[in-house]
Amino acid sequence: MTADQRRNTLPVRNPRTGEVDYHITPPTAEEVAAKTKAMRAAQVDWAAAPIEHRAAVLKKWADAVEKNRAAITKAESADTGRYRIAKESPDAVIWGARGWADKGPEIVKKAMLEGTSTIMPHIKFRSQLKAYPLLGVISPWNFPLMLSTIDAIPALLAGSAAIIKPSEVTPRFVEPMMETIQTVPELAKVLTYVVGGGETGQHVIENVDIVCFTGSVPTGRKVAEACARRFIPSFLELGGKDPVIVTENADIEAATDAVLRGSVYATGQICFSIERVYVQEKIHDAFVDKLVAKAEQLELNYPDIHRGHIGPFIFGKQAAVVDEQLDDAVKRGAKIRTGGKSQNLGGGLYMRPTVLTDVTHDMKVIQDETFGPVIPVMKYKTKAEAVKLANDTIFGLSGAVIAGSDEEAYELGSQIDAGGISLQDTTLTGAILRDAEKTSFNFSGMGGSRMGPASIMRFYRKKALMTNTLKPQDMREIRELPAA
Ligand code: NAD
Repeated sequence: MTADQRRNTLPVRNPRTGEVDYHITPPTAEEVAAKTKAMRAAQVDWAAAPIEHRAAVLKKWADAVEKNRAAITKAESADTGRYRIAKESPDAVIWGARGWADKGPEIVKKAMLEGTSTIMPHIKFRSQLKAYPLLGVISPWNFPLMLSTIDAIPALLAGSAAIIKPSEVTPRFVEPMMETIQTVPELAKVLTYVVGGGETGQHVIENVDIVCFTGSVPTGRKVAEACARRFIPSFLELGGKDPVIVTENADIEAATDAVLRGSVYATGQICFSIERVYVQEKIHDAFVDKLVAKAEQLELNYPDIHRGHIGPFIFGKQAAVVDEQLDDAVKRGAKIRTGGKSQNLGGGLYMRPTVLTDVTHDMKVIQDETFGPVIPVMKYKTKAEAVKLANDTIFGLSGAVIAGSDEEAYELGSQIDAGGISLQDTTLTGAILRDAEKTSFNFSGMGGSRMGPASIMRFYRKKALMTNTLKPQDMREIRELPAA
């Protein structure tokens, strides 16, 4: 390691112990530029090959990830302080690559149009798709492997190369993932990870043709601005403050199950976690009692990572953000019905599922993204009021409705201003990954859908090649007209 590199080494905290037990050395700007130059050169052959070839290479990668599952799980578990989700994380590539490899070619074929102009029938046209040469992915810490590959896989299939910069908070999984990439030589030329923080993110933006960013609103704005300066497209998947509406006729048992899981799964560190619960006043008290009883049955995964339901905060500073929201809420009159502020256990920062009532829309816990296992519950009288409250936010990522019937849920869900609406349950967005499209409202994002057919089609520039089947028009015949 050179002296310069040592100076730039970044410490990485372990979320279970609070200790720094890992370091990363970000590449210099020149190193990122050199890497991306080589990737661009290799991308030419990658894009020229038939899509079926790329699909086959992605399937080989899926096999390699499957073989290295234990090492990846171990690293991501150390990154995140949780085991179950870390164990499932390699499936993002295993099933993601296999699934897109099977479905993608058909989607691309359908987008290739050929025909005759409806305006000028003597003009025939054919479309051509040209992949953006190099995608830059910048991803967050809450689902390190999954969110680093969710956009890269369809981009690779489209014919782009991809350079991924995951969060500096959770970089341990990169080593075993790079091992998997190295076992597939065709892929290793067009796919790589670089570790580092915001500065490395900026180096990536300076060297790519298109950016997929997942993270917070303030960073998303910086990324979009940097991309705009370079005139390259940016796709932003940002924060959320997802509401759920529970109607008078909802099944309280099912509703409390859905709300609890949707709010505290992964310690609430999911962009589309449920963060606001609006319950019709007639069932409010029964709903809250049941929710509190169920929340109290959940356990922390401390001291044994293989037991319990709720892991530590991955990012230490997030605990302080959530604590501050709880203080603000209590100061303004909210009641903590169960749970409470974060606790330091063995150096890790944990929070029990925390149910709040008597909340109002002037509280930070209702206005700001929480990213913790907090469930603020509010009463409403009419459905119109519930929709108004659900839409009173700067975000618009997703939402949910649990009602007495599917039709009632659909009717209310169609009035919520957000991209993914779960009906009769919460947090169903992942299910439509390869099937349906959704875009964000307001500050929750920008750009096309990362789901459904658009997921692949985002990575193409679209060309149209037009042929005139008659003689070209003679300019000398295009004279000015006499006055009418
Ligand atoms: P963050 O914005 O702090 O960081 C995200 C990434 O951006 C990291 O890799 C970071 O190193 C990088 N970065 C920081 N500054 C940069 C800069 N100036 N230029 C380029 N890159 C820079 O977000 P986070 O704290 O890691 O993640 C949590 C946030 O992510 C939450 O707001 C959450 O809602 C959001 N998120 C959204 C989705 C979604 O799909 N909409 C999914 C998961 C998480």
